[in-house]
Amino acid sequence: MKETILIVEDEKDIVKMLEYNLKKEGFKTLSAYDGEDALDMAGKNKPGLIVLDLMLPGIDGLEVCRLLKNNSKTASLPIIMLTAKSQESDKIVGLELGADDYMTKPFSPRELIARIKAVLRRIKEKDKLPEVLKIGDLTIDFSKIKVAVKDKTIELTSKEFELLKTLIKAKGRVLSRDYLLDNIWGFDNAVEIETRTVDVHIRTLRKKLKSESRRILTVKNYGYRFEYED
Ligand code: CA
Repeated sequence: MKETILIVEDEKDIVKMLEYNLKKEGFKTLSAYDGEDALDMAGKNKPGLIVLDLMLPGIDGLEVCRLLKNNSKTASLPIIMLTAKSQESDKIVGLELGADDYMTKPFSPRELIARIKAVLRRIKEKDKLPEVLKIGDLTIDFSKIKVAVKDKTIELTSKEFELLKTLIKAKGRVLSRDYLLDNIWGFDNAVEIETRTVDVHIRTLRKKLKSESRRILTVKNYGYRFEYED
């Protein structure tokens, strides 16, 4: 399944042209015509990538970029900026803020799509975990979805495994309960889920990990992180 691309641009013709070309390539699209909607949609829908025009009414593109990168919920979303020739300095500011790439208008949709694919590929490579990871007495086989402590296989539920994998992928960063909830249980779950659900699963996961449970650290009133160091 291909990612959803959020298009942020107030020029309706450009939005239409991008929607058409991206859909033809199998992407799903979302469109925002101003900065406020862009921030709202990025937070709610977690697109795979954002195409962000810098010239927007209201909150301009650079400010949108800054706000996205300063919010832990949206900071990791890749951004490709659309800039005008006259916005040379804005382009540099945008890249410094953490945008991944830019295209100068006018551009060909084919080239933009090639850049989108390249950015997505780069991110996938970066996030890739090895098939088998050994940390202390803990062995996690991501391809077989198996976990062992001191070579003894531990039975984890799929949610417990996802939770462990998400914490490990964060490479020591603290993840909030809300982040874990959104990423593991999803937004549109019909069942009423609370942040307490995360705590309950952490508790059972810790119990199963025995001596290696010490690696899952609680950050009070916020969330959890995975400790790599011994
Ligand atoms: Ca514009």
